[in-house]
Parts: sequence; structure tokens; C-alpha cells
Amino acid sequence: MALETTLSIIKPDAVAKKVSGRILSRLEEQFNVVAMKKLHLTREQAQAFYAVHKERPFYPALIDFMTSGPVVVLALEGEDAIKRYRELMGATDSTKAAAGTIRKDFGTDMQKNAVHGSDSVENGIRETRFFFAP
Ligand code: ADP
Ligand code: MG
Repeated sequence: MALETTLSIIKPDAVAKKVSGRILSRLEEQFNVVAMKKLHLTREQAQAFYAVHKERPFYPALIDFMTSGPVVVLALEGEDAIKRYRELMGATDSTKAAAGTIRKDFGTDMQKNAVHGSDSVENGIRETRFFFAP
């Protein structure tokens, strides 16, 4: 195991439902929150952040969703943080996420799934740098 950094985004659906504080509590229990800010993503920021998905059919709707309201962005640090945070989030489809996960408890469906999490050590570093100075 190694000390890793992963990027979390509390998405517009969760912020609008006023559960960002409850999600933050779960994150704080398991990780060191090294940076955090609330912002409203521009279309340019959302398009750049999700550029890896730009050929996917869900991409235009994802950009609309991610720019529909404010988000909370957090850099989380901890041992094995990438995998442990993916487990805490749950499956992409909130309706199929395991009991007790953030997506099961606060998400709605495949798109409105409450939180983002990095999927690899490299992307954890890249995505954290996208939002935060070193
Ligand atoms: P994850 O967020 O679990 O890493 P992906 O990286 O595959 O999932 O997708 C990024 C985001 O795009 C998802 O969290 C979700 O909001 C949205 N998304 C993914 N697949 C779909 C889909 N089939 N329909 C609608 N939205 C989707
Ligand atoms: Mg992903």
C-alpha cells in the first residue's frame, strides 16, 4: 500500500439536495481532506475534465449535468486512497451500488450519482492538479 491522492467531486445533484455536508463527513472519517472548494463549473472546465469521455453517447448530457449547479471539489489523501474511495462511492449506477455506499445513499441513477472519484493513481494526481495548485 502507498499514500495516494484522489479527487472527489460532490456533484450538482448532491449539492442541490443539501447532502454535501453528510457526504463530507463520510469522506473525513476515512481520508485526510487536503484541499476543498465550492464552485460552479464552466462548460469549458467540465468538457476538459471529462475529455476522456468525449466520444461517449452520454457526454453532452454529462456536461449539462455537471454545469447545472455548484459542486464541491476535494483532494483526499490516504493509504490506498484510489481503491478505498471507489469502494466508499459505490458503482457508477446508483441503483446498483452496494448498501452503505455514498452513491446508494445519495445518488439517483447512472448519471446523477452524487460523487466523482479518480480511477487510477495517475488520474488522481492529474485531476487534483486540474483544480488545485501543488
Ligand atoms: P465513474 O464516475 O464511476 O468513474 P465513468 O467514468 O464511466 O464512471 O463516467 C463518468 C460519469 O459519467 C459518471 O459518474 C456518470 O455521471 C456519467 N455516466 C457514465 N455512464 C453513463 C451512462 N451510461 N448514462 C448516463 N451517464 C453516464
Ligand atoms: Mg470515471
